[in-house]
Amino acid sequence: MGPRFRGDGGCGTWLGKQHFTGLGSMDGDNGRAEGTAADKPGDYVLPFQLEASGARGRLIRLGPAVDEILTRHAYPEPVLLLLGEAVALTALLGASLKFDGRLILQTQSGGPVSFMVVQYSTPGHLRGYAAFNGDEVAKASNGGAAAKVLLGGGQLAMTIDPGAGMERYQGIVALTGETLADAAHEYFDRSEQIPTFIRIAVARHYTGPDGSAPGKWTWRAGGLMVQKLTAEGGRFGGGEGLASGITGDDDDDGWRRALALAATVEDHELLDPALPSERLLYRLFHEETVRAFTASPLAARCGCSRERVEAMLERFSEDDIADMAKDNVIAVTCEFCNRNYKFDADRYLKRDSE
Ligand SMILES: [Zn+2]
Repeated sequence: MGPRFRGDGGCGTWLGKQHFTGLGSMDGDNGRAEGTAADKPGDYVLPFQLEASGARGRLIRLGPAVDEILTRHAYPEPVLLLLGEAVALTALLGASLKFDGRLILQTQSGGPVSFMVVQYSTPGHLRGYAAFNGDEVAKASNGGAAAKVLLGGGQLAMTIDPGAGMERYQGIVALTGETLADAAHEYFDRSEQIPTFIRIAVARHYTGPDGSAPGKWTWRAGGLMVQKLTAEGGRFGGGEGLASGITGDDDDDGWRRALALAATVEDHELLDPALPSERLLYRLFHEETVRAFTASPLAARCGCSRERVEAMLERFSEDDIADMAKDNVIAVTCEFCNRNYKFDADRYLKRDSE
């Protein structure tokens, strides 16, 4: 078993963990983009505006992308559910980026799932993994396992990385609520003081047999985020402040109405691939004059590469390389996507004597 690398994870310094740098960013724009239109059961984010209530929001629907991210890992079901929530939340927040860059969501906590990281890289690329103690997860999962139990006390960090040497912004909030969405909600409440609604749903979805293809279970996720429009905008909410064309009330009545309507959304509505997003938005918000914008595709894409792993290995000492090598082979597995890379150890052992 060779070393496992974690990209740079965008982990900043607060984790106090060792991370390799330079592997994390994603390149190119050739991710799969099935179902880019909001009326197809694919992977996408659909921004919208509630004209009468002075609010805006985003709806995400994840099918093949979240299924690919989760099924790459042989994690226990409760961990997959939790990671699925983190993927959906990251997609909701990451879709607010107005520039090329990354949004990284991480948890570090004392429970059975000690660490989770999900990255969103423009345009819409998602990847993630979790670190956990299998025995503790099994014990905690008896009789259901809420995020609160699996994560335990700790922190949720949301980092915006504009790349190109520009300064990162990191928001950190304690994991005190029942779900990850609760923690994000707490962040918007306290740090940004922007009234925000977030709901996330994750589940396995059964697709019946179609012709000769047998029926199968796949992961799906969905999320709804609604925010009151404020003059300042917000770092993770959209950032542009009051959008044009909004005629919302100056007082809080409009926001209260939007919140009450958003709260009626059901998990199955967020997850159902047969329910078009525009229809769901209309069902929820038609009283507030809902306007949907253009949907953007989301995709599972890691972005690790042989070149990046090589660059990482170049930074190890010969002793470290010798420790890693087995039968002169260094095998490296990407934590995010489980891809394996193999290298000839000689190449790294002899470099100093050349
Ligand atoms: Zn990878």
